[in-house]
Amino acid sequence: MAPAALGSAASPNATIAQSLDEPDRWSVETVNAADWAVPLKGLVNLKHPEAKAAGLESRDEPIQVYFHALRHPEHGLFIVDTGVEKAQVEAPKEAAFRGLVAKVLPADALDVHVTTADWLAAQPEALSGVFLTHLHLDHVMGLPDVPSGTPIYLGPGETSERSLGNGFVKKVFRRALEGHDVLREWQFSDDPDGRFAGVVDVFGDASLWAIHVPGHTPGSTAFLVRTGDGPVLLTGDVSHTAWGWEHGVEPGTFSSDKSASALSFQILRAFAAEHPSLDVRLGHQPTPSALAAR
Ligand SMILES: [Zn+2]
Repeated sequence: MAPAALGSAASPNATIAQSLDEPDRWSVETVNAADWAVPLKGLVNLKHPEAKAAGLESRDEPIQVYFHALRHPEHGLFIVDTGVEKAQVEAPKEAAFRGLVAKVLPADALDVHVTTADWLAAQPEALSGVFLTHLHLDHVMGLPDVPSGTPIYLGPGETSERSLGNGFVKKVFRRALEGHDVLREWQFSDDPDGRFAGVVDVFGDASLWAIHVPGHTPGSTAFLVRTGDGPVLLTGDVSHTAWGWEHGVEPGTFSSDKSASALSFQILRAFAAEHPSLDVRLGHQPTPSALAAR
């Protein structure tokens, strides 16, 4: 782990008040790499009063495995999270996500639309870097397709022994990260406005912020991007589901620190409510159209 060379201390709040809606030169393309299904209790806190009132019970919930392409004429092409490795489709026995973990989750239920290798090969520009929202399987399983030497950025505490899970899961991470450079850790500074747990102005030009939203994992990171079409908020797994975001219910058992996860969820949701122009893109489902159209 090394400190990220990118990023300077700055609060998005002050800038946002003046210029959130001013277009910048980023564009954000959200790619649905695969459809999948996972237990609802992992995605939504079913013990939350709202979830109880709605009578929600655990079941296999359809989700999407996204990655987001951020493009800028000077900064380059970055991806937020990593989609699905090509070997997952063509040679699943050789994929990083294989073995017992892939049986349990299960990997063969992934309905892959585009692999990261194929997607990258179709881009005119080289990949300048990878921003991970967090170190969970469904966010790193495309890493083997990322060219070695590509800088990979993530939040603090993600590679701690406890955070990485059991031995079988650790093996998957080790394989996914194999051949890659040292991971670069965001040097979050205190948010002067006291709203977020930490913020980084990634390029120092108030166009793209990494926001520390701990709880789902210790280093979970959301991204706020000023694009030509208005501001975009990539929540990562601060909220996996549309239902959770809409009803104010944070993620469930997949989060490592439930109360911190609930707090980060509330902070990010309140921020979005104050800025209705935000195009909010959730971790694993499309944002409800009623909210998106506000
Ligand atoms: Zn996820």
